[in-house]
Amino acid sequence: MPTRTVTKHDFLTALGCNTRAWFGMRESGGIPTPADLLRMQEGQDVHRRAQSLHPNGVFAGSIEKTKRLILDHAVNVIIEAAFTVDGYTARADWIHRVKGGWVVGEIKSSLFNEDGPKDEHLEDLAYTVMVARRSGLPVKGCELVLMNRDWRLGMPDTELFVVTDHTAVVLPMADEYNRLWDQIAPLLLRRSRPSPHWCWECRACEYFADRCVGVGISDPIFQLPYLRENKFTELTAMGVTRISAIPSDFKLSQSQQKAATAIRTKNPQIDAAVIRAALDSVVWPVGYLDFETLMTAVPLYPDVAPHEQLVTQYSLHVEASPGSELAHREYLADHTRDCREELTARLIRDTSGCGSVVVYSSFEKTQIRGLASLLPAYATELAGLEAKLFDLEPVVRRGLVHPNFSGRSSIKVVLPVLAPDLSYAELDIGDGSAAVAAFAKLALGDATDEEIQAVRGALLEYCKLDTIAMVRVLRALQSRS
Ligand code: SF4
Repeated sequence: MPTRTVTKHDFLTALGCNTRAWFGMRESGGIPTPADLLRMQEGQDVHRRAQSLHPNGVFAGSIEKTKRLILDHAVNVIIEAAFTVDGYTARADWIHRVKGGWVVGEIKSSLFNEDGPKDEHLEDLAYTVMVARRSGLPVKGCELVLMNRDWRLGMPDTELFVVTDHTAVVLPMADEYNRLWDQIAPLLLRRSRPSPHWCWECRACEYFADRCVGVGISDPIFQLPYLRENKFTELTAMGVTRISAIPSDFKLSQSQQKAATAIRTKNPQIDAAVIRAALDSVVWPVGYLDFETLMTAVPLYPDVAPHEQLVTQYSLHVEASPGSELAHREYLADHTRDCREELTARLIRDTSGCGSVVVYSSFEKTQIRGLASLLPAYATELAGLEAKLFDLEPVVRRGLVHPNFSGRSSIKVVLPVLAPDLSYAELDIGDGSAAVAAFAKLALGDATDEEIQAVRGALLEYCKLDTIAMVRVLRALQSRS
């Protein structure tokens, strides 16, 4: 069995919760989803392209080779420099020699932003710098390598990146982390689990419900919608971790009150007047619209920016009058080219007879606005389509709060409660990120003809179910108004 060591991910997780990091180090990691695989593949591609900035860099990949290359003064750039000391390991994407020491570089497949890097990128870099220094590397500089949003297909890889210096911020941050050196590794490497305690990290922790402080708690306070950290801290300071234990005079927002009442009483909280007022504004015939998109770090088509989101598909069900038979229209782009103009023209035609166009969340509105700025010739018609949009999600949030929604209102949570006979479980593609990954696989040219047919069929099925889901949610609301 390989010796267990503390990695960057473990250390940074431990800053939030030691127990979570301890669990994570003992997990096998599970089978990566298609979306995980796409992210990994993109990360590798971005790292490979970034190396064009240092064409004379020498690949290390191991601790021994890193040590040898550092001592070799003919080598000025080391790619994948590895370090280990006192149970900690780190790998710098590159280090390059400067007067009196080295600059440590971290490559990220995120966009460069004029407003400054994300904290998590600086934290990653600070951890690597801490371990490199502890290994004896004199670190003189720290740089981030981020993606340039102005890059387009056909430009050289060297222009895909923006390199920025963060030495002044990262070195003190590494000093801060270094103060925890003697605490974190011993705690994470010991056999017994560090004692868990309720903290803000618990809200998104994968171990909460099954293996940690949430075991056996059916109504944790995290089920309060829009719970903020200050309110969480106030509640836990009083020893309150369950919704059923919140004192009646504790100040909650209206939506939190509703969710708390639904969860406490195990009864849906229905505001028929709110639902009726909203549904009265729906104009028939009604269209039900859902988009799927493609977004890749390195663009796959000309004139597309890194990480730009492209609408590639829609499903539209049309209901002429309440309860009438549904007509279905759909579009799925040819994955070998950018089809946004063709999709837009079809979408405008297909929705032209609709009075209202029902969506679930603001996602479609954002995409329609994006298409309007990309294609000014269609801007007026797209503005007309935007004016017809009717978002169902706020109606659910305000009008129907079910205890089994657990304080949430996404369609994936709402649908199994309101239409239990409809399920994504049997589909080959069952969520939006899987749909993005599936289309990207086609666009990258990684699929055989047979796979292309299967994936296209699965994408159409998935998107179609999303709009049927909206039909069913609207009908469920009608029946409660
Ligand atoms: S549930 Fe909370 S205490 Fe337990 S591991 Fe997760 S974050 Fe830590």
